[in-house]
Amino acid sequence: MNDNNQPLEDVATRQGLVRRIAGTFQPYRVRVGLVGILILITAGLGVVNPVLIRFVFDSALFPPEGEPNLSLLWLVAGIMAGITVLNGGLGVVQTLFTNRIGQQVMRDLRDRLYTHLQMLPLSFFTNTRTGEIQSRVANDVGSIQNVVTSTVSNVLSNSVVFISTLVAMFILSWEIALVAIATVPVFALLSKTVGARRRAVSAEAQQTAADMTAITQETLSISGIMLAKLFGRQDQEIERFHRQNQRLADLTIRRQMTGQAFFTVMQIFFSLAPVLVYVIAGYLLRGDAPSGITSGTIVAFTTLQSRLFFPIGSLLQVSVELQSSLALFERIFGYLDIKPEIVDAPGALPLDRHAVKGRITFDRVRLEYEARAEADHGSQGRDSGQRWALDDVSFRIEPGQLAAFIGPSGAGKTTISYLIPRLYDVTEGAVQIDGNDVRDIQLASLADLVGYVTQESYLFHASLRDNLLYGNPDATRDEMEAAARDAFIHERIMQFPDGYDTVVGERGYRLSGGERQRLSIARVILHDPRILILDEATSALDTASERYVQAALEPLMDRCTTIAIAHRLSTIMSADVIFGVDQGRIVEQGTHQELLTRDGLYANLYAEQFDAGRIECRCEDGIVLSNGRIVAQCEEVL
Ligand code: ATP
Repeated sequence: MNDNNQPLEDVATRQGLVRRIAGTFQPYRVRVGLVGILILITAGLGVVNPVLIRFVFDSALFPPEGEPNLSLLWLVAGIMAGITVLNGGLGVVQTLFTNRIGQQVMRDLRDRLYTHLQMLPLSFFTNTRTGEIQSRVANDVGSIQNVVTSTVSNVLSNSVVFISTLVAMFILSWEIALVAIATVPVFALLSKTVGARRRAVSAEAQQTAADMTAITQETLSISGIMLAKLFGRQDQEIERFHRQNQRLADLTIRRQMTGQAFFTVMQIFFSLAPVLVYVIAGYLLRGDAPSGITSGTIVAFTTLQSRLFFPIGSLLQVSVELQSSLALFERIFGYLDIKPEIVDAPGALPLDRHAVKGRITFDRVRLEYEARAEADHGSQGRDSGQRWALDDVSFRIEPGQLAAFIGPSGAGKTTISYLIPRLYDVTEGAVQIDGNDVRDIQLASLADLVGYVTQESYLFHASLRDNLLYGNPDATRDEMEAAARDAFIHERIMQFPDGYDTVVGERGYRLSGGERQRLSIARVILHDPRILILDEATSALDTASERYVQAALEPLMDRCTTIAIAHRLSTIMSADVIFGVDQGRIVEQGTHQELLTRDGLYANLYAEQFDAGRIECRCEDGIVLSNGRIVAQCEEVL
């Protein structure tokens, strides 16, 4: 099961989680310390004014002598105003600092998450919806902004305000202070109950939001929308979206209402608190013993009381928010905890591509996709009788050879090719280049060595130039244009008004399939690898273009060891060695002529595609036409 759905407690203990969150602040500890000092000063200054109120009442407004002491009143009022202005100023500085720290922590977290995701193996992405990943990087990190920027400093300042207020209250009247404190546990209990409820609803709402992003991303992508239109599934998609949308709305209302109910109760409590002070003061004043309570004390006390309840309220609210935010942090850490399995081994070799000969060896290779996927998500691998995607695959391709892999769909041809650039690692056995296990070669060297052209040519939403230079950012303009010419795409590019600066639409949809494929071939020509993998690389081209592009690839193929995966046998007949793959095993190998003499996979495929030559073929303009259909090129067949 995907880790996304694991209960929170499974990933880390709450304490460990809080420690990890605190760890994200570690690089900014000096600034955090400074904010702490500012908070102490402002919170300390905050209790001075309420205490001065007693002085205003008892000594300036209603002194024992009777007449108000105006000069004292002005002095105290001046001090109170000064303190307020100073506190305001310090508050601004503190906000600036906390925001800075918060944004830096968020930036670090986003960077860490993105860097980590880049390192994760392909299996992680085949097992996780793209929308969900996007939601974590964008929404989850965004949602904790509040906690990071304001909540943490709130906790600190409210705690200090709470403690200093309490001290001031005890100085004024310990009896009333005790009564005020007695009400605190009631709040705490309330917070705990509502907090837990709110946290659960919050986590559910967050997951629903992620689901919605995933649905939107999947169904409103160009491929998704095409699929829906072609199968007439719009209504179902709209309905699916509507259901999630409704759920999100309901959950959000529930989350807000749980919070609201809590605050309403608290507000009532706040309003009743001064009444309690008056009543208690009344009782204390009624007795014969001197209580020391003056009208100044009562006014000062009720003012302080709002300073006491406000931080409690804030702290309780913060605790509710902190609890919902823990869920977010947990989801982010959940991703960060997934091990990037395919990484450089200690002491991995940097291979100089000019020194590489390009011998590829597979030594009793086995691969099990599911075991990889489950290991990536931190759960136990299954030991049930899983089918190996590759089973006991051994072969050797000599430097400079063209090796072709043929076989039915799902046989494992692409999987074999994935193991060379380490898109996946073998489960058993080894893949070697020039005798070096690929797991002992630096990944950067491997990427440099291996060029891969797939059937699905992915282009970034950027200019054609940027897309081409992705293969080699250091290439000159001439080199880039030469590569484009070789791939027969230069003329087409020049037809665009902006030439090489033309921006490719989302996933290259402004270009035809064949044009995209030729661009990706130009990109790999620029990359100039030593091992070239062509996975149905020319399948989107018509036979004539395919011939041109193959001619274009030839100089590159001469410098490379080439692996060609093809369904169309016409493209691989001239291969030095052809491997027949079936159900994850190599079932035959040999040249075109050798394999034709056997009644195996290749001979059967050949018979299917060329109808064993029973259908009359004729050559026209270098192309073999069979019953009017182009099936091959003359020189390949002759
Ligand atoms: P085709 O000619 O249709 O491209 P292929 O011979 O290249 O097929 P592969 O793509 O290598 O076949 O797939 C081999 C087997 O591995 C298939 O059964 C496929 O379902 C399975 N497979 C491929 N990718 C994954 C994956 N990421 N997770 C699990 N199984 C996978």
